[in-house]
Amino acid sequence: MLSGKTALVTGSTSGIGMAIANRLAREGCNIVLNGFGDEAAIEAERAGLAKEFGVKVGYSGADLTNPDAIVDMMGYVARDFGGADILVNNAGVQYVAPIEDFPVAKWDLIIALNLTAAFHTTRLALPGMKEKGWGRILNTGSAHAKVASPFKSAYVTAKHGLAGLTKVTALEGAKHGVRCNLICPGYVHTPLVDGQIADTAKARGMTREQVIEDVILEAQPTKEFVTVEQIAGFAAFLCSPDADQINGAELSIDGGWTAE
Ligand code: NAD
Repeated sequence: MLSGKTALVTGSTSGIGMAIANRLAREGCNIVLNGFGDEAAIEAERAGLAKEFGVKVGYSGADLTNPDAIVDMMGYVARDFGGADILVNNAGVQYVAPIEDFPVAKWDLIIALNLTAAFHTTRLALPGMKEKGWGRILNTGSAHAKVASPFKSAYVTAKHGLAGLTKVTALEGAKHGVRCNLICPGYVHTPLVDGQIADTAKARGMTREQVIEDVILEAQPTKEFVTVEQIAGFAAFLCSPDADQINGAELSIDGGWTAE
């Protein structure tokens, strides 16, 4: 379906991003991976995708909190892949603490990575997309782009900001064949959430199972995690012609969390 297109997926060495990269490769996209992790594991992911789907797969280890590194990464995508036709702004981290105790460095990190990095990749990808008359930008939001939870000030602020960036990008790209949407997952059992489960279990003296049932899935009416494959399938749909009129939308995939 997307044969010949190139997708840059940030934060694709783990979790949701890795599943999106895999699914877009399955659809025929060339892929540029990004994120941190074990060098050998990343190379295995890169080579594995290329072999399984017969597409070109590259990797940038850019630290997206550094705007200069983002410029370098986008230069690499332009030079080696002819630019990103699909940009998935997905890299993100979480930190949980009351506002009065929230470490300033953690606030700066989360705003830089979860919000500002998407501005930089978008500003650098848009000219090429406009020139080609086609582009898809998918921002990984969260239920926390729509509603808040206590102790997640930086994350909720960044995700609400990303909702704003999504809408502006959608308006500016609309006449140029560019679409931009925000995917808003509920809880997905990735390393990011696993860290929260462990921290909460320790802080509240609960078992992992109790945290999953009584704290995490308490928010989700279906009482089930969203899977990374479901988000990846949704992302592929948003790149398909059936989704051509979906633009600037905040799309929940959260088991009904934000319906409450
Ligand atoms: P994850 O921890 O599994 O993956 C995060 C990815 O970001 C990794 O590839 C990591 O290497 C990369 N990364 C971290 N810091 C980076 C940096 N400075 N520069 C470049 N890459 C960096 O997490 P995940 O759960 O897959 O989360 C992916 C996205 O989904 C995030 O934006 C997160 O906020 C969002 N999200 C997650 C959930 C959930 O329940 N897991 C729910 C809603 C939204």
